[in-house]
Amino acid sequence: MANIVAIVGRPNVGKSTLFNRLVGERKAIMDNVSGVTRDRHYGYGEWCGKFYTVIDTGGYVHGSDDIFEGEIRKQVELAIKEATVILFMVDVDAGLTGLDEEFADVLRRTDKPVFIVANKADTNLRAHLAGEFYALGLGDNIFPISSANGSGTGDLLDEVVKHF
Ligand code: GDP
Ligand code: MG
Repeated sequence: MANIVAIVGRPNVGKSTLFNRLVGERKAIMDNVSGVTRDRHYGYGEWCGKFYTVIDTGGYVHGSDDIFEGEIRKQVELAIKEATVILFMVDVDAGLTGLDEEFADVLRRTDKPVFIVANKADTNLRAHLAGEFYALGLGDNIFPISSANGSGTGDLLDEVVKHF
């Protein structure tokens, strides 16, 4: 059975940056599936001898007052259905937002493992800000990382592959 890691979260938190890091050199064989799976990117990676598929969700339609309804909700629900593990990305720079809480409300309903990935924790000082996201009510699986410089991503993957 395929191991599928889905990255979800509001626009601009760094999902695509993490995606590129998780698929590494293998992004050459990444598929950009058009049609029903518009703007979902699939890539392939390996960690500690375990192989996985990563889904980068995104390309959300902007401009609506309630941007969560419609495209975003569909993407999250599809990700929950497809995924083995869900990476719910938030941003320590911006802090906890109302849109993050809307994602959390949907993610709380799945039995699948959800990791809160607190991105943009580029320094140790910033990593401490990740504690704010306990308030999402999704447990204490919170990993401060920096998709930009790679810090914390190894610790995250060590835990993710335990579910494969
Ligand atoms: P997405 O919309 O969630 O896919 O986010 P992107 O991956 O496109 O990143 C949004 C912005 O955040 C870009 O300007 C990135 O360069 C920046 N970014 C992503 N990851 C990090 C990070 O770990 N640290 C910092 N400081 N910026 C980041
Ligand atoms: Mg993106």
